[in-house]
Amino acid sequence: MSDRSADLRAAIDAVREASRACHAVQQRLVRPETLEKKDKSPVTVADFASQGIVCAKLADYQADDALVGEESADALREPDQAALLGVVAESVCAALRTEASHEQVLTWIDRGSAHAQGDRYWTLDPIDGTKGFLRGAQYAVALGLIERGEVVLGVLGCPNLPLDAGRGALFSGVRGEPAHVRSLWDADASAREVRVGDIGRASDARLCESVESAHSDQDQSSRIAGLLGIQGEPFRIDSQCKYAAVARNDASIYLRMPTRPDYREKIWDHAAGSVIVECAGGRVSDAEGRDLDFRHGRSLEENRGIVATCGSIHQEVLDAVRAARR
Ligand code: AMP
Ligand code: MG
Repeated sequence: MSDRSADLRAAIDAVREASRACHAVQQRLVRPETLEKKDKSPVTVADFASQGIVCAKLADYQADDALVGEESADALREPDQAALLGVVAESVCAALRTEASHEQVLTWIDRGSAHAQGDRYWTLDPIDGTKGFLRGAQYAVALGLIERGEVVLGVLGCPNLPLDAGRGALFSGVRGEPAHVRSLWDADASAREVRVGDIGRASDARLCESVESAHSDQDQSSRIAGLLGIQGEPFRIDSQCKYAAVARNDASIYLRMPTRPDYREKIWDHAAGSVIVECAGGRVSDAEGRDLDFRHGRSLEENRGIVATCGSIHQEVLDAVRAARR
């Protein structure tokens, strides 16, 4: 049995430092800092730096913990990427307040290439919502801890989400305990509980979904909203900030309807967010009502789409999803 409060402290510290690094890069975002991955999604300096920082921090915490991250250092090892590696290494070293060789930085990033198997591993999306990040909008650093196939802890760093008078919120959930939010930047600020909204009928719900129509079928969700009697426009926001929105009652439904039958959701896109919503009193399933099943490697092989709600209206939403897909 591990010490859950120590796990949480380590996860919060890692996500906080990675978020700081991402925030700094987003503030001075320029084109040369992006390169195209094979799948054409933009990968940034911050993406690599964030993974390097979280991996280094967690290696320091528990050297034998495995981490399944979205990135690998392969692209950074190419000889023509030396300049990019230099910038990444600078960012990682600044965050860790240390001097490390480029090779050491690559080794940290590659610590995130573990297989999604075994009794305990972390999963990380170093920047969830890369498109939002590049648009200067919302994104999240998302870190989850999976033990024996169950997400037991999740931390979301959301640098651009409003909190009190400013921006920068850090959400956390430890299974079996209430979810919390605290300042992303101020490590001394206290945490407070977050709860999902308390609504009786789905027609009163605010619905959130992806900004990107390639990631979620927006026509389908508009039909579902119609069936539920929801009048307002959908709240479109990038990344797992959608889970945060449901957890703290900025919205009561998060729909992610499949755009293609063969797409399988990635564990790092849902581990942290789903446990936070559940800790906040909500429910998370796939579009067919099944629990998310984290026992099948890097993807949610047995699930299709995502439905997250404040809980009370979950079945009503699933019924509308079924009707809309018929
Ligand atoms: P969002 O910010 O909610 O639009 O989601 C961003 C995430 O969408 C990325 O981290 C990708 O892993 C994921 N993604 C990429 N392609 C698809 C797709 N066809 N369907 C669903 N999610 C996708
Ligand atoms: Mg992602």
